[in-house]
Order: sequence, then structure tokens, then C-alpha cells
Amino acid sequence: MTYRDHFFKYLAQTSSFPLALEIEKAEGIYMYGTDGREYIDMISGISVSAVGHRHPDVVAAMKEQLDHHLHLMVYGELIQPPQTNLACLLTGHLPATLNNVYLVNSGSEAIEGALKLAKRYTRRTEVVAFKDAYHGSSHGALSITGREAIKQSFRPLLPDIRHIVFNDPGMLDQITKRTACVVAETIQGEAGAVVPGKNFMQALRQRCYDTGALLILDEIQAGMGRTGELWAFSHFGIEPDILTLAKGFGGGMPLGAFIASREMMRCLSERPVLGHITTFGGNALCSAAATATLQTIIGKRLWENAVRQEKTIRKHLIHNDILKIRGKGLLLAVEFDSADRCKKIIDRCLEGGLLTDWFLFADHCMRIAPPLTITSEEVEKACAVILQAVEDVAG
Ligand code: PMP
Repeated sequence: MTYRDHFFKYLAQTSSFPLALEIEKAEGIYMYGTDGREYIDMISGISVSAVGHRHPDVVAAMKEQLDHHLHLMVYGELIQPPQTNLACLLTGHLPATLNNVYLVNSGSEAIEGALKLAKRYTRRTEVVAFKDAYHGSSHGALSITGREAIKQSFRPLLPDIRHIVFNDPGMLDQITKRTACVVAETIQGEAGAVVPGKNFMQALRQRCYDTGALLILDEIQAGMGRTGELWAFSHFGIEPDILTLAKGFGGGMPLGAFIASREMMRCLSERPVLGHITTFGGNALCSAAATATLQTIIGKRLWENAVRQEKTIRKHLIHNDILKIRGKGLLLAVEFDSADRCKKIIDRCLEGGLLTDWFLFADHCMRIAPPLTITSEEVEKACAVILQAVEDVAG
């Protein structure tokens, strides 16, 4: 029996068409297969490896932490330097009101925590979210996800959820004094890198102020420098009441966070006490990795490289069959005329040594979300593989 056989036999599958590459090692923007092949990672494990695979500073921080301790106690009881270091660094680079960090394990959990916090703080129940938004696979996160097809088999989900059209200011009057919170991806990821208008985002912010609904911005995919600002909300001149992070946050380790004001967050620790608890949230090793990741992103101003490389990509990826490149920074969607063409191009890219995929809610779009450390030479090399694949499929 091979690893491949065991993968299909013993590991639960998420679809009948997994990529099923056998990977032995990963470094920088490259993954190395057991067959000796090298793959350019153009998707960073879905916007995770922001500073590349096994960034030396992340590896060093983890090794250092290994010599101190691993798990000690459930989140919130003991003072653990990796957690406090991370919270200090993070809040130092966020707006003044986002000054209290709750560490969890994943994006879905960050969303669950944020939803509970908003309901508890406002004492309201309705949640407004957007069509085509993706917020995670747990019950609460799935409830606010904006695609019926992946939800219907799991109903009943959370009650009192209202979905409105993203980037349509005409729908904002559906946010009312009944609304506990509005949850939005600052830039929609799985919808295919959809960037809203500045006017819409500012009107959304204002409507939340006017009605007392809390604005939760999900930057699980768009944060950490990926879209050309450290935080995507900076593009729009707004600030959320609650921010959620995960994916690139942990530098390749599982970590999430929801961040709010100290005053707001306090309500999770009283009436009832322990209103939100997690065993592994803020795991010491993950927090050490996250701190090194954030230090690298800030130290090297990697969001500026995201802008530079977006320009290189837009300059090189020109072909009759490429209808449009959506998105911002290094969260881009290359749009084709059909899902069929997109899938064939993705397969050709893989044969050419480049890993990419489509979007959950936009299967005619190819994902471009490489590590933010990618160089111009590497981008040019990647674009050559993609263009060849587009040409091969066209011919
Ligand atoms: N929100 C957004 C915007 C995401 O892209 C994702 C994951 N694709 C999630 C939430 C859920 O994160 P996780 O898979 O870590 O639960």
C-alpha cells in the first residue's frame, strides 16, 4: 500500500476530485513532490502562507518556543508570553478601538466568537450578512455564508439571519435597530475576489452607526497585507467594531482571532462567566509563529510587495481568453468564460509545475494568491506557466 492508497482509504474526503499531489517538503513559494517535481504555490494553502512556506523567522520562533512549553492550560487562565507578545504587537498596529484580542484556532471559530460577542453585547438577535460571502463550515459560520447550495442539506441552521446583496447601497435599509451585527468580508474571497466600492463600505459603516448594529469585518482571507494594505478596511477609510483573522495570521500554524474593544469583550467574561471558552485557542506554538509572521509582514512592508506584484501580474497575464482579473493586491481572480475552461487551465498549470485552483463560489475564476514574499522574477516565471496553460487549452 502507498501513501496515496492510504490517503483515499483512511482519510475522510471533502470531494471526489482532490488534487492528491504527494508533497514532501515546502519552502518559500515552492512545494516539492515525492516524485521529485517542484511546484510554484500560487495559492498559499488558500491565503495561508503569507510569508512563504517555512519562513526562517517563523521556524526559529517555533523552535525557541519548543524549548519553553507547548500547551499549558485552556485559553484565558495562565499568562503565556507568546500570547501576550502577539496581542501587544497586533493591537499596536490596529485602530485604537480594536484593543482586545480573543485567540481561537481557526477562521470559523473566530466568526463564531464574533457572532456570540455581538449578540451578547447588543442583546439583539438578527444578523445581516451578504450573498456569496463565505465565513466557514461550522453551524454558525455556515448560517451566515451566502450560498444556499452548500447550506440546504444542513438545515435547520441559525435563525434570524438576513442575506443582502453585497456592494448594493440600496439594500442597507434592511439593517435596522433589530440588527445585532452585520458581517462582511472586507473584500469577498470565495465569491471570486470581489472588491466593493468605497462609497458602499462607507455607507455600510454609517448605517451600522445609525442603527447601533455592530460591524464585523471578516479579514480571514483579505487581512495580513494580502490586498495591498496591512488591513483591507484601510482601503475604504472605515474601521470595524469587531475584526476576525485566521489563515495567514498563524504563518502556517492554526490560529484565529476576533478583536474588539476591551469594554465590549468584557461581556464574554460575565453573566455568564466563561461565556466563550476554548481549550487550544492561542496555542503557544501557534502564537509564537503568528508573532514572527506579523513581525515579518510589518518589517518588510509586504503589503507593498503585494501591490508591486499585482502590477506585474496584470502586465503579464494578457490573453484573449482572460476576460478580466478581479481583486486587489495578491488576492486575484483570473476570469474565464466557463468553469470547464478554468478547470482545464488549472490542470495544465499543475502539469506545468504550478499549483492553483478555482473559487468556491466562482468556479470560472482561477485563484492567484501566492505568498506575499514572491519576487518579480518568480511572478514572471509563474505567469509564463499560466499563459502557456491558457494557450494550450485555447488551441
Ligand atoms: N472567512 C473567510 C473569508 C474565509 O475565506 C474562510 C476560509 N476559506 C473562513 C472564514 C473560514 O476559515 P476556516 O477554514 O479556518 O474555518
